[in-house]
Amino acid sequence: MLKLDFHPSGRHFLQIPGPSPVPDRILRAMSLPTIDHRGPEFGALGLALLDKIKRIFKTESPVIIYPASGTGAWEAALSNTLSPGDKVLMFETGHFATLWHKMARRLGLEPEFIGLPGYEGWRHGVQADMIESRLKDDVRHEIKAVCVVHNETSTGVTSDIAAVRRAIDAAGHPALLIVDTISGLACADYRHDEWGVDVTVSGSQKGLMLPPGISFNALSDKAIAVSQKARLPKSFWAWDEILEANKNGYWPYTPNTNLLYGLNEALDMLLEEGFDHVLERHQRWAAGVRTAVEAWGLEIQCQDPTVYSPVLTGVVMPEGIDADEVRRIIYERFDLSLGMGLGKAKGKMFRIGHLGDCNDLTLIATLGGCEAGMKLAGVALKGSGVTAALDYFANHPLKGDN
Ligand SMILES: *Cc1c(COP(=O)(O)O)cnc(C)c1O
Repeated sequence: MLKLDFHPSGRHFLQIPGPSPVPDRILRAMSLPTIDHRGPEFGALGLALLDKIKRIFKTESPVIIYPASGTGAWEAALSNTLSPGDKVLMFETGHFATLWHKMARRLGLEPEFIGLPGYEGWRHGVQADMIESRLKDDVRHEIKAVCVVHNETSTGVTSDIAAVRRAIDAAGHPALLIVDTISGLACADYRHDEWGVDVTVSGSQKGLMLPPGISFNALSDKAIAVSQKARLPKSFWAWDEILEANKNGYWPYTPNTNLLYGLNEALDMLLEEGFDHVLERHQRWAAGVRTAVEAWGLEIQCQDPTVYSPVLTGVVMPEGIDADEVRRIIYERFDLSLGMGLGKAKGKMFRIGHLGDCNDLTLIATLGGCEAGMKLAGVALKGSGVTAALDYFANHPLKGDN
């Protein structure tokens, strides 16, 4: 038997920025018996889900649901809209943008990776002006798509997607806008239609509070039209057959039924709470956590306060401290998982997830684990982040609560 005696009592604190803790209500919904995915009951569930999910993306257009992790939906977005050798413009915001760029290469595209010089790009958001000037130079319109990450999970930066849209329009360029909001959806404000996004990629295990295993492509009319001529090979990912089957609430293959029960429950929870309330509580938690980091006298990975992420906060360790060692101590002593520094940020910082099924006290406990663990690791702290965050939460009730 798998030995899991590392979590002796109480709940493990899963405070990585995805997978996020799964609420009991969702776990229970997923425990229902699996049904016939070609039967009438399933068709009704499928239709209800495909309709409700549009409200989360803020779109009137179809949203495709894949039985795959977010990486699969990245591939789907590219392979349905592009042809071998196509140029795409991608912006380096961090590790996830870097992985997506690598994927574009492997698929036979010609991605151009732009960003701020050095490590700067990993501490700031997408620079829309750089995209605008690159597109203006592309007078022959060889660039077929602009790909950006909305919430860069490796750094804790939430870029301004409306500004990217304006940049593409200001350049008068026909490129598609493809956005990864795998970790932004249902945590950070996101508007697929209003921002003129052609394909939005997302996943289940972050803001939607589900286990890993489903992912999404939200489409636009333009993306659907382009997909009819795109020549990258695809079969499992191909939108056409899925859209056809989805008309009746079905899939061309076996979808993952129990995760869809969970998705249905998650959507009900988010819509019952009120989507604005969901977004507001994420902003408030993020502000509370930043107050703690400030009180510790440490740096936040994101250096531009206009793009601080409501989903997670990157905490930079002082020179000479290995962030992974700090995380190890916190995990072993307090049963608390924090996100590691990825790629260029490895060992330099750790990430506190504050998304989904949390509350003020989960975050206070999380900050408590961080504070105690950093002291044990020999990090010099200026003051108590826990006390600062407690005060912040006490003095900033959510609108509608008090
Ligand atoms: C989690 C994440 C991914 C990868 O998704 P998987 O489900 O791990 O395949 C990609 N991009 C971003 C921004 C993410 O947060």
